[in-house]
Amino acid sequence: MNDDLFDAITDVFSGFGWPAVFEVAILAFVIFALLRLVRGTSAMPVVRGIGIVVVAIVLVSRVFDLAVLSWLVNNALAVLALFVLIVFQPEFRRALERVGRTGVRSLVGVRRDGYDSLIDAVSVAAGELSTQRAGALMVIERETGLQEIADTGTPVDALPTPALLEGIFYPNSPLHDGAVLLRPERVVAAACTLPVSPQRAVRGAHVGLRHRAALGISEQTDAIAVVVSEETGLISVAMGGRLVQRLNEQRLRTLLGTLTNGAWREFRLRTSRTEA
Ligand code: ATP
Ligand code: MG
Repeated sequence: MNDDLFDAITDVFSGFGWPAVFEVAILAFVIFALLRLVRGTSAMPVVRGIGIVVVAIVLVSRVFDLAVLSWLVNNALAVLALFVLIVFQPEFRRALERVGRTGVRSLVGVRRDGYDSLIDAVSVAAGELSTQRAGALMVIERETGLQEIADTGTPVDALPTPALLEGIFYPNSPLHDGAVLLRPERVVAAACTLPVSPQRAVRGAHVGLRHRAALGISEQTDAIAVVVSEETGLISVAMGGRLVQRLNEQRLRTLLGTLTNGAWREFRLRTSRTEA
């Protein structure tokens, strides 16, 4: 079998010319771009899972020469691809929209556009809500797509401004209960329900549901959640399952700034390591 394999490999390389190199490069780019598109959406773990299972089955069927199994894999691949496309149609549509909006930049580089105005609106609103003692919960989406969270609330789809965010959280507003979901240049939805963290205390102090909801979304995704306490007016930020407390408008602005540039890559690595 090893000789066969060796022959097969030399065959492949003897037919290798410049067109082939070009083809491989294009294919590699297409695969890279596709992975980049689904990265961070909830489709990614499923795509990865299917990839692992398929590779495992292919290896086993090749090594043990299992004809039926390899037939099955060969024929199931197209169906699997179609399955992933249909099930994750919203994620793919959103990813393609992103390409339409920002061009190929979103396929090859890190997106940062729009975070600055978002951070500005969130910080000003949090400062004002804190002086007014109005409770608030604002979730900033990063790499992990949070469409499922948006679907639990009321769609807003507006440009983030301090006035809009303050208006949402004033106590008698119909949308004040729950979390606001934010993306660069978008207030996506309000009155959203977040997963509640099992942590009941932070550094010995009891934390209520608003803070546990902020912790919860930051444990399960790479999102950043900004909380203004109704009881104390204090501003906190939840990230990676931890709570940074006692912020003011300026410190919040600085922290959000570092979390959405260079430093947030490291932060993502760190959180994915604690997940593992
Ligand atoms: P505060 O310091 O503002 O009192 P807290 O951490 O003590 O906050 P609670 O007093 O329990 O929390 O806050 C309740 C509010 O938190 C609810 O009115 C609701 O707006 C919000 N909240 C509670 N659970 C969730 C959840 N799962 N997702 C989103 N928002 C939630
Ligand atoms: Mg409370």
